[in-house]
Amino acid sequence: MVDVYIDPHVHMVSRTTDDYVRMARAGCVAITEPAFWAGYDRSSPKGFFDYFRQLTEFEPRRAAQYGIRHHTWLCINPKEAEDPVFAREVIGLIPGFLERENVLGIGEIGLNKNSRNELEILEAHLQLASDHGLLVLVHTPHLEDKLKGTRLIMDAIRRFPKLDPGRVLIDHVEEHTVGHVLDRGFWCGMTLYPDTKCTPQRAVDIIECWGSERIWMNSAGDWGHSDPIAVPKAQMEMRRRGHLESLVRRVTFENPERFLSQSGRFSAQPLRPTAPDVTR
Ligand SMILES: [Zn+2]
Repeated sequence: MVDVYIDPHVHMVSRTTDDYVRMARAGCVAITEPAFWAGYDRSSPKGFFDYFRQLTEFEPRRAAQYGIRHHTWLCINPKEAEDPVFAREVIGLIPGFLERENVLGIGEIGLNKNSRNELEILEAHLQLASDHGLLVLVHTPHLEDKLKGTRLIMDAIRRFPKLDPGRVLIDHVEEHTVGHVLDRGFWCGMTLYPDTKCTPQRAVDIIECWGSERIWMNSAGDWGHSDPIAVPKAQMEMRRRGHLESLVRRVTFENPERFLSQSGRFSAQPLRPTAPDVTR
């Protein structure tokens, strides 16, 4: 049985058209793609101007060929935030893209090594989101400092009273951080990686322990070892354990739709695949 789903965090610029085909066949109708690290540091802030064009112009057209609606988030990621002058120049480019129709907000911002410079640039992004009333998608560190980083990030967000926790999603939660995030009123994302972060099995365990309010799953598929159809694999795991279809649908479709629709730009309505782009 194939049910529709949303993958709210996947880096399609680093995936192939075969992945789009597999996702569409598995029921994916809409995705959101946060700006992230390219696997190497860009040599100039202007590299981000081109990346933001790719995320707002080319990638939505590519996704539409497979009947998938593409949305995006803009930022400079924490891995490239160690040079605040460079990072502030990139942040200065973002307002020029905020009116583009597939832009949902600021993301994925956050911390990587929990450094002072990263925190400064995190706050600059939060200021931008606060000034423009934007949704925020937050990356939490993958290192052993995940809990400390998650707390630092939530404390930073609290310093911006206009940022409602109900409009902020804290991603890559694990067993030891999910409760802290939910308790403070934020939304949670579980990232389904084949080996690190959450496997589909661990994500379903977390739902069984913490419930299905303000929580979603994503593949975070990127240029590393990752699985762009991890969300339907988690759906299968839920069915295998005998969970109701209504619960499967809630965490893999209705919850992301509810959070993302706060942007006023998100749609998961069926999209007829468009003709292939033959400009190449
Ligand atoms: Zn990511």
